[in-house]
Amino acid sequence: MMIPETTFNTIVYVWIAIAVLVFPLLLKVTAPYGRHTKKNWGPMMSNRLGWFVMELPALAVFVFFIVKGGRFYNSLVLAALVLWLIHYVNRAFIFPWRLRTSSKKIPVIIVGMAIFFNLINGFLNGYWLGCLSSEYPHSWVRSARFVIGIILFIIGFFINQYHDHLLIKLRKNNGSTYKIPYGGLFRYISCPNYFGEIIQWAGFAILTWNIASFSFFLWTFVNLFPRAIDHHRWYKKQFPDYPESRKAIIPFLF
Ligand code: NDP
Repeated sequence: MMIPETTFNTIVYVWIAIAVLVFPLLLKVTAPYGRHTKKNWGPMMSNRLGWFVMELPALAVFVFFIVKGGRFYNSLVLAALVLWLIHYVNRAFIFPWRLRTSSKKIPVIIVGMAIFFNLINGFLNGYWLGCLSSEYPHSWVRSARFVIGIILFIIGFFINQYHDHLLIKLRKNNGSTYKIPYGGLFRYISCPNYFGEIIQWAGFAILTWNIASFSFFLWTFVNLFPRAIDHHRWYKKQFPDYPESRKAIIPFLF
Protein backbone atom coordinates (compact mmCIF):
# COMPACT_ATOMS: atom_id res chain seq x y z
CA MET A 1 0.00 0.00 0.00
CA MET A 2 1.36 3.41 -0.98
CA ILE A 3 1.14 6.39 1.36
CA PRO A 4 -0.40 9.33 -0.55
CA GLU A 5 2.01 12.25 -1.01
CA THR A 6 -0.25 14.63 0.93
CA THR A 7 -0.28 12.27 3.94
CA PHE A 8 3.50 11.84 3.69
CA ASN A 9 4.01 15.61 3.59
CA THR A 10 1.75 16.04 6.63
CA ILE A 11 3.87 13.50 8.54
CA VAL A 12 7.03 15.43 7.61
CA TYR A 13 5.52 18.79 8.64
CA VAL A 14 4.48 17.31 12.01
CA TRP A 15 8.02 15.91 12.42
CA ILE A 16 9.45 19.37 11.67
CA ALA A 17 7.04 21.00 14.14
CA ILE A 18 8.16 18.53 16.84
CA ALA A 19 11.80 19.46 16.13
CA VAL A 20 10.99 23.15 16.57
CA LEU A 21 9.24 22.41 19.90
CA VAL A 22 12.00 20.10 21.14
CA PHE A 23 14.82 22.60 20.44
CA PRO A 24 14.18 24.95 23.43
CA LEU A 25 13.66 21.88 25.60
CA LEU A 26 17.07 20.47 24.67
CA LEU A 27 18.63 23.84 25.45
CA LYS A 28 17.35 23.34 29.02
CA VAL A 29 17.63 19.55 29.54
CA THR A 30 20.98 17.83 28.91
CA ALA A 31 20.65 14.44 27.20
CA PRO A 32 22.16 12.03 29.79
CA TYR A 33 24.77 10.08 27.82
CA GLY A 34 28.55 10.27 27.43
CA ARG A 35 30.02 12.78 29.91
CA HIS A 36 26.51 13.87 30.95
CA THR A 37 25.34 10.34 31.92
CA LYS A 38 23.03 10.26 34.93
CA LYS A 39 22.01 7.16 36.83
CA ASN A 40 18.47 8.39 37.59
CA TRP A 41 17.20 7.88 34.02
CA GLY A 42 16.21 4.24 34.60
CA PRO A 43 17.91 1.02 33.50
CA MET A 44 21.28 1.25 31.77
CA MET A 45 22.94 -0.86 29.08
CA SER A 46 26.38 -1.20 27.47
CA ASN A 47 27.39 2.02 25.70
CA ARG A 48 28.88 0.13 22.74
CA LEU A 49 25.82 -2.09 22.23
CA GLY A 50 23.63 0.99 22.70
CA TRP A 51 25.33 2.79 19.79
CA PHE A 52 24.96 -0.28 17.58
CA VAL A 53 21.24 -0.79 18.21
CA MET A 54 20.51 2.96 18.00
CA GLU A 55 22.10 3.44 14.60
CA LEU A 56 21.15 0.18 12.88
CA PRO A 57 17.47 1.15 12.28
CA ALA A 58 18.41 4.23 10.20
CA LEU A 59 20.49 2.01 7.93
CA ALA A 60 18.03 -0.89 7.73
CA VAL A 61 14.87 1.15 7.13
CA PHE A 62 16.43 3.45 4.52
CA VAL A 63 17.90 0.52 2.57
CA PHE A 64 14.61 -1.42 2.87
CA PHE A 65 12.62 1.32 1.12
CA ILE A 66 15.28 1.93 -1.53
CA VAL A 67 15.30 -1.80 -2.35
CA LYS A 68 11.48 -1.92 -2.26
CA GLY A 69 11.28 0.96 -4.74
CA GLY A 70 13.89 -0.67 -7.01
CA ARG A 71 15.01 2.61 -8.58
CA PHE A 72 18.65 1.64 -8.80
CA TYR A 73 18.81 2.90 -12.38
CA ASN A 74 18.22 6.45 -11.10
CA SER A 75 21.56 8.19 -10.58
CA LEU A 76 20.36 10.46 -7.75
CA VAL A 77 18.78 7.57 -5.81
CA LEU A 78 21.98 5.55 -6.25
CA ALA A 79 24.17 8.46 -5.12
CA ALA A 80 21.97 9.06 -2.06
CA LEU A 81 22.11 5.34 -1.20
CA VAL A 82 25.92 5.30 -1.41
CA LEU A 83 26.23 8.40 0.84
CA TRP A 84 23.74 6.99 3.36
CA LEU A 85 25.65 3.66 3.42
CA ILE A 86 29.03 5.40 3.87
CA HIS A 87 27.70 7.25 6.91
CA TYR A 88 25.61 4.55 8.57
CA VAL A 89 27.83 1.51 7.95
CA ASN A 90 30.48 3.46 9.83
CA ARG A 91 28.11 4.67 12.54
CA ALA A 92 26.50 1.27 13.24
CA PHE A 93 29.27 -1.25 12.50
CA ILE A 94 32.61 0.56 12.96
CA PHE A 95 32.20 3.59 15.26
CA PRO A 96 30.85 1.67 18.32
CA TRP A 97 33.87 -0.66 18.27
CA ARG A 98 36.34 2.21 18.03
CA LEU A 99 35.01 3.85 21.20
CA ARG A 100 37.21 3.50 24.26
CA THR A 101 34.25 3.26 26.58
CA SER A 102 33.81 -0.44 27.27
CA SER A 103 33.09 0.19 30.94
CA LYS A 104 30.49 2.89 30.20
CA LYS A 105 26.73 2.56 30.30
CA ILE A 106 23.97 4.45 28.50
CA PRO A 107 20.35 4.81 29.73
CA VAL A 108 18.02 2.43 27.87
CA ILE A 109 15.53 5.29 27.46
CA ILE A 110 18.10 7.29 25.44
CA VAL A 111 18.71 4.26 23.22
CA GLY A 112 14.92 3.84 22.81
CA MET A 113 14.43 7.51 21.84
CA ALA A 114 17.33 7.33 19.39
CA ILE A 115 15.89 4.17 17.80
CA PHE A 116 12.57 5.99 17.31
CA PHE A 117 14.36 9.04 15.86
CA ASN A 118 16.41 6.89 13.48
CA LEU A 119 13.40 4.80 12.40
CA ILE A 120 11.50 7.96 11.44
CA ASN A 121 14.45 9.55 9.62
CA GLY A 122 15.34 6.33 7.81
CA PHE A 123 11.71 5.89 6.78
CA LEU A 124 11.12 9.50 5.64
CA ASN A 125 14.29 9.68 3.56
CA GLY A 126 14.18 6.12 2.19
CA TYR A 127 10.47 6.18 1.39
CA TRP A 128 10.65 9.53 -0.35
CA LEU A 129 13.67 8.72 -2.49
CA GLY A 130 12.88 5.04 -3.07
CA CYS A 131 9.11 4.97 -3.48
CA LEU A 132 7.28 8.28 -3.50
CA SER A 133 9.10 11.10 -5.26
CA SER A 134 8.53 11.66 -8.93
CA GLU A 135 11.67 10.45 -10.65
CA TYR A 136 14.69 12.71 -10.43
CA PRO A 137 15.96 13.35 -14.01
CA HIS A 138 19.37 11.87 -14.87
CA SER A 139 20.69 15.41 -15.42
CA TRP A 140 20.07 16.07 -11.67
CA VAL A 141 23.55 14.78 -10.77
CA ARG A 142 25.08 17.45 -13.01
CA SER A 143 23.07 20.29 -11.45
CA ALA A 144 24.66 22.98 -9.24
CA ARG A 145 22.42 21.82 -6.41
CA PHE A 146 23.84 18.30 -6.52
CA VAL A 147 27.45 19.43 -6.90
CA ILE A 148 27.23 21.93 -4.00
CA GLY A 149 25.39 19.36 -1.86
CA ILE A 150 27.87 16.56 -2.43
CA ILE A 151 30.86 18.84 -1.79
CA LEU A 152 29.28 19.90 1.53
CA PHE A 153 28.48 16.28 2.40
CA ILE A 154 32.06 15.16 1.77
CA ILE A 155 33.60 18.11 3.66
CA GLY A 156 31.19 17.57 6.58
CA PHE A 157 31.87 13.82 6.63
CA PHE A 158 35.63 14.33 6.85
CA ILE A 159 35.33 17.04 9.52
CA ASN A 160 33.09 14.71 11.55
CA GLN A 161 35.33 11.65 11.11
CA TYR A 162 38.60 13.43 11.76
CA HIS A 163 37.45 15.08 14.98
CA ASP A 164 35.69 11.94 16.25
CA HIS A 165 39.06 10.25 15.66
CA LEU A 166 40.95 12.95 17.63
CA LEU A 167 38.48 12.63 20.52
CA ILE A 168 38.59 8.83 20.64
CA LYS A 169 42.41 8.96 20.57
CA LEU A 170 42.50 11.15 23.68
CA ARG A 171 41.92 8.08 25.82
CA LYS A 172 44.79 5.64 25.83
CA ASN A 173 42.73 2.84 27.40
CA ASN A 174 39.10 2.11 27.96
CA GLY A 175 38.03 4.38 30.75
CA SER A 176 36.22 7.56 31.52
CA THR A 177 38.89 10.26 31.73
CA TYR A 178 38.58 13.45 29.71
CA LYS A 179 41.27 15.79 28.37
CA ILE A 180 41.17 19.12 26.56
CA PRO A 181 41.15 18.27 22.84
CA TYR A 182 43.54 20.10 20.50
CA GLY A 183 44.19 20.04 16.76
CA GLY A 184 42.11 20.72 13.65
CA LEU A 185 39.01 22.82 14.29
CA PHE A 186 39.33 22.37 18.06
CA ARG A 187 41.33 25.56 17.77
CA TYR A 188 38.03 27.38 17.15
CA ILE A 189 35.26 25.23 18.61
CA SER A 190 34.67 22.60 21.28
CA CYS A 191 32.60 20.26 19.08
CA PRO A 192 33.92 20.15 15.50
CA ASN A 193 32.61 16.59 15.12
CA TYR A 194 29.06 17.94 15.58
CA PHE A 195 29.81 20.91 13.29
CA GLY A 196 30.90 18.43 10.58
CA GLU A 197 27.80 16.28 11.02
CA ILE A 198 25.52 19.31 10.61
CA ILE A 199 27.35 20.36 7.40
CA GLN A 200 27.12 16.78 6.12
CA TRP A 201 23.34 16.55 6.44
CA ALA A 202 22.90 20.10 5.11
CA GLY A 203 24.75 18.81 2.03
CA PHE A 204 22.49 15.77 1.80
CA ALA A 205 19.38 17.98 2.04
CA ILE A 206 20.70 20.24 -0.74
CA LEU A 207 21.68 17.42 -3.08
CA THR A 208 18.38 15.56 -2.72
CA TRP A 209 16.32 18.79 -2.31
CA ASN A 210 13.19 17.58 -0.55
CA ILE A 211 11.32 18.26 2.66
CA ALA A 212 12.14 14.84 4.23
CA SER A 213 15.90 15.37 3.97
CA PHE A 214 15.46 18.94 5.20
CA SER A 215 13.67 17.56 8.29
CA PHE A 216 16.65 15.28 8.97
CA PHE A 217 19.09 18.18 8.68
CA LEU A 218 16.91 20.22 11.06
CA TRP A 219 16.75 17.38 13.61
CA THR A 220 20.54 16.94 13.43
CA PHE A 221 20.93 20.63 14.25
CA VAL A 222 18.29 20.43 17.01
CA ASN A 223 20.12 17.47 18.60
CA LEU A 224 23.69 18.67 18.24
CA PHE A 225 23.59 22.43 18.80
CA PRO A 226 22.28 22.22 22.40
CA ARG A 227 24.60 19.28 23.13
CA ALA A 228 27.58 21.30 21.93
CA ILE A 229 26.56 24.17 24.25
CA ASP A 230 26.41 21.64 27.13
CA HIS A 231 29.83 20.16 26.23
CA HIS A 232 31.35 23.63 25.97
CA ARG A 233 29.97 24.68 29.38
CA TRP A 234 31.19 21.39 30.86
CA TYR A 235 34.74 21.87 29.47
CA LYS A 236 34.94 25.42 30.88
CA LYS A 237 33.81 24.24 34.30
CA GLN A 238 36.05 21.18 34.28
CA PHE A 239 39.28 22.79 33.01
CA PRO A 240 40.24 26.24 34.39
CA ASP A 241 42.85 26.51 31.60
CA TYR A 242 40.30 25.83 28.82
CA PRO A 243 41.13 28.03 25.77
CA GLU A 244 39.24 31.32 26.21
CA SER A 245 38.60 32.11 22.55
CA ARG A 246 37.12 28.70 21.70
CA LYS A 247 33.40 28.74 20.85
CA ALA A 248 30.98 25.80 21.23
CA ILE A 249 30.07 24.75 17.69
CA ILE A 250 30.13 27.59 15.14
CA PRO A 251 33.57 29.17 14.72
CA PHE A 252 33.70 32.83 15.98
CA LEU A 253 29.95 32.88 16.73
CA PHE A 254 28.52 30.30 19.16
P1 NDP B 1 31.17 13.20 21.82
O1 NDP B 1 32.00 14.24 21.15
O2 NDP B 1 30.53 13.52 23.11
O3 NDP B 1 32.09 11.89 22.09
C1 NDP B 1 32.69 11.15 21.05
C2 NDP B 1 33.62 10.09 21.68
O4 NDP B 1 34.82 10.70 22.18
C3 NDP B 1 33.02 9.39 22.90
O5 NDP B 1 33.53 8.09 22.97
C4 NDP B 1 33.52 10.21 24.08
O6 NDP B 1 33.58 9.47 25.29
C5 NDP B 1 34.92 10.59 23.60
N1 NDP B 1 35.31 11.93 24.07
C6 NDP B 1 34.68 13.09 23.79
N2 NDP B 1 35.33 14.13 24.33
C7 NDP B 1 36.40 13.62 24.98
C8 NDP B 1 37.46 14.20 25.75
N3 NDP B 1 37.54 15.53 25.93
N4 NDP B 1 38.40 13.38 26.29
C9 NDP B 1 38.32 12.03 26.10
N5 NDP B 1 37.35 11.42 25.37
C10 NDP B 1 36.40 12.20 24.82
O7 NDP B 1 30.12 12.70 20.74
P2 NDP B 1 28.73 11.88 20.92
O8 NDP B 1 29.04 10.63 21.67
O9 NDP B 1 27.64 12.77 21.40
O10 NDP B 1 28.40 11.56 19.38
C11 NDP B 1 29.20 10.66 18.63
C12 NDP B 1 28.97 10.86 17.14
O11 NDP B 1 27.59 10.71 16.81
C13 NDP B 1 29.37 12.26 16.65
O12 NDP B 1 30.03 12.12 15.41
C14 NDP B 1 28.05 12.97 16.45
O13 NDP B 1 28.15 13.93 15.40
C15 NDP B 1 27.09 11.82 16.11
N6 NDP B 1 25.72 12.13 16.55
C16 NDP B 1 24.77 12.49 15.61
C17 NDP B 1 23.50 12.85 15.98
C18 NDP B 1 22.49 13.28 14.95
O14 NDP B 1 21.42 13.74 15.33
N7 NDP B 1 22.75 13.18 13.66
C19 NDP B 1 23.09 12.81 17.40
C20 NDP B 1 24.15 12.43 18.31
C21 NDP B 1 25.41 12.11 17.88
P3 NDP B 1 32.31 9.43 26.31
O15 NDP B 1 31.18 8.77 25.54
O16 NDP B 1 32.83 8.61 27.44
O17 NDP B 1 31.98 10.85 26.69
